[in-house]
Amino acid sequence: MSRLRIVPVNRLDQSFLQRLGLCLEERFLLEAVVEHALSVPATALNRERDQFFFNTLAARVLTAHPYTDDVILGVTDFDLYRTSERFVFSGVSDDKRVALLSFARLHAETDSQDAANLLFQRSLKQATHAVGRFFGLNPCHSDRCVMAVATTVFDIDAHDSHLCESCERRNRARQQSS
Ligand SMILES: [Zn+2]
Repeated sequence: MSRLRIVPVNRLDQSFLQRLGLCLEERFLLEAVVEHALSVPATALNRERDQFFFNTLAARVLTAHPYTDDVILGVTDFDLYRTSERFVFSGVSDDKRVALLSFARLHAETDSQDAANLLFQRSLKQATHAVGRFFGLNPCHSDRCVMAVATTVFDIDAHDSHLCESCERRNRARQQSS
């Protein structure tokens, strides 16, 4: 694995993504780069649900960034869903070639002055979770671990933004074997 490529789907806040990249670099010891935005029209949404099918967006990102040795993390404002999940905060494609993160459900409920920071923290946790899944880390049973499954934003808020000790051990083993 050489780099982590963050691919914005449509135009997103560049400095937010740069900051996200730096935090992911520190966690996974990879160089992060923010790619040019990939233009995806809202007409590609599932009209009935007003959501984007996870696998469809993953395929679009992968087509624009065909497989190299890099980690691909697509980030989007579109709300995502899967056949088995009403909505998805973040995850990896079935073939484990693309990770996706959606900001749609991560925004703070109020306009407090901490709203921007809360959005960043939630995004970082879910991005870390998705990249961890990309690298084959399984959902963790530790309550606080960032690899624990989150089904609500309150779950996300309760998680740390780092891997727990045992997930970190597996992460390090992966780094040494790659
Ligand atoms: Zn863990």
